[in-house]
Amino acid sequence: MEPADIQGDLSEVLLSEAEIHARIAELCREIERDYEGRDLLLVGVLRGAVMVMADVSRELRRHIEMDWMAVSSYGAGTQSSGVVRILKDLDSDLTGRDVLIIEDIIDSGLTLSWLRENLSSRGAATVEICALLRKPAAAKVEVDVRYVGFDIPNDFVVGYGLDYAEKYRNLRAVGVLAPHVYS
Ligand code: 5GP
Ligand code: MG
Ligand code: MG
Repeated sequence: MEPADIQGDLSEVLLSEAEIHARIAELCREIERDYEGRDLLLVGVLRGAVMVMADVSRELRRHIEMDWMAVSSYGAGTQSSGVVRILKDLDSDLTGRDVLIIEDIIDSGLTLSWLRENLSSRGAATVEICALLRKPAAAKVEVDVRYVGFDIPNDFVVGYGLDYAEKYRNLRAVGVLAPHVYS
């Protein structure tokens, strides 16, 4: 159950907790097949991907390793600029590793295309991406995302790790923030 006051800030629930979990289970069966017999390093992008990482990692019926990065896009307001700064780097050596980036959402795609390049340049054997959400209408660069949970409309969404001013990350569902919250 969502706390009533938080749920009331949504104008629409896009994805319920049950829908998200069912889709993550499907993606994990694909990941298990694709990486069979290979070691797998999951790289979560803080902070939005915390919930996706928690659920994907526990749904996988195999060994994985986990590491984390925090990045920030320079640029005004909520728009991603494509210029990315590393706030917290990985602890792992990526040489020869099969890396799967775990992300909450692909909006413009600028952050992830930069991140994939960055991790590849450290000698990873493969770098693929798993993102719970994608906004096709917002794409500024094409990013080849191997595992996508859901394509959603070009609205600002919160919940399941995604924030507005650092709040709403603990909502179990994903929803559209109601306009009254902004003002
Ligand atoms: P991109 O570089 O793809 O434009 O931006 C990706 C990042 O912007 C995401 O990892 C996420 O942190 C943030 N972001 C993009 N769209 C949304 C959204 O609808 N809601 C929230 N809360 N964050 C978003
Ligand atoms: Mg993110
Ligand atoms: Mg945010």
